Amino acid sequence: MTGSGVKPRSAVKAGVNGAHHGRVNNDGRRGARGKAAGTPRVTLIPGDGVGPEVIGAAVKVIEAAGVKIDWDQQLGGAIALRRFGTPVPDQLIDSLKSTKLALKGPLETRVGEGYRSINVYLRKLFDLYANVRPVRTQAGVHTPFRGVDLIVIRENTEDLYAGIEHQVAPGVVESIKIITARASTRIARFAFEYARRNRRHLVTAIHKANIMKLSDGLFLKCAQRVARDYRDIKYQEQIVDAACMRLVTDPQAFDVLLLENLYGDIVSDLCAGLVGGLGFVPGANYGRHGAIFETVHGTAPDIAGKGIVNPVAAIKTAALLLDYLGHGRAGDRIRAAVDAVLRAGRVVTPDIGGKAGTADMTAAVIRALK
Ligand code: NAD
Repeated sequence: MTGSGVKPRSAVKAGVNGAHHGRVNNDGRRGARGKAAGTPRVTLIPGDGVGPEVIGAAVKVIEAAGVKIDWDQQLGGAIALRRFGTPVPDQLIDSLKSTKLALKGPLETRVGEGYRSINVYLRKLFDLYANVRPVRTQAGVHTPFRGVDLIVIRENTEDLYAGIEHQVAPGVVESIKIITARASTRIARFAFEYARRNRRHLVTAIHKANIMKLSDGLFLKCAQRVARDYRDIKYQEQIVDAACMRLVTDPQAFDVLLLENLYGDIVSDLCAGLVGGLGFVPGANYGRHGAIFETVHGTAPDIAGKGIVNPVAAIKTAALLLDYLGHGRAGDRIRAAVDAVLRAGRVVTPDIGGKAGTADMTAAVIRALK
């Protein structure tokens, strides 16, 4: 799945601007385009913290939905560091190069020390430039907000996440923000294509070009240029701080959000808060030649190993993978089962006000599969 060595799967060839994105509907899904021939091989990265618990739940639900996947399980992150002395073992990279696809649990990245984020490394290595996070109000989950239905589209390969930092002098450090016309244009085109294919009506580019006139200014110029090719979709711009305020006062004012890497990271957690928390939001990183499916949430070290992590985000992420593989009907059945369990509200985890554990809630989703 490197920039060079990866060929698209026949079943998922179509895409946005060559992107490996397929036809997607309102949940950020590809419609079923016919099943891939044979059993697809997918790299499975359980990850750190709650990763093995939620990924285990997702795999069980995929199996129960009747879809066969040949999982190539690989370690990455802190657990791989302990086992192999590196957080990104060669066998993990080799597996990704061969499968071009992964279902991945969160990986730990220490704050202010330690190795650089493996998540960022993998997205860059395989040029998975478009991070897509569908955020939607969920019946049965009580929040102060109603009718939230947003798609967060985040540029995944540059910005301050390039990780170029250095000390200029003792007590003075510099982090470099990289914004290029190429990456800004392709993510903007991805967002508009996504909007068009999913009958979305509005793309909002979120920026801070009043302060970062060159970098965010370039991002906006590229988005404006692309917007001219999509007259059927409304385009607007908002400064990131004002957009955050508006998101929590009037989230229905938004539809598709187009953001650089850092703003996208922050705003997607904010959006998760609108629909009940990080336990609900699935995600996918798409590139021209492959995709990695992962939740928005991290390793949740405070609840890891307690058997109480909400598996919904991971199960919905698994449904996105199935869409991508051409098993859209199975993906829909999984989403419907999750909705039924949440609506009933009887077997849900503590973050939703319930008393059930992850295993019980997963079993309830499997029972609800039709
Ligand atoms: P986090 O998402 O792990 O947790 C934030 C809070 O949300 C915690 O209180 C946690 O218990 C709760 N939470 C998260 N997911 C939940 C779920 N499914 N069910 C119930 N509660 C849930 O964010 P963090 O604490 O900032 O980060 C922890 C670690 O995860 C860090 O090392 C960070 O770098 C890493 N991380 C990795 C990824 C990734 O691999 N893609 C993404 C985000 C964070």
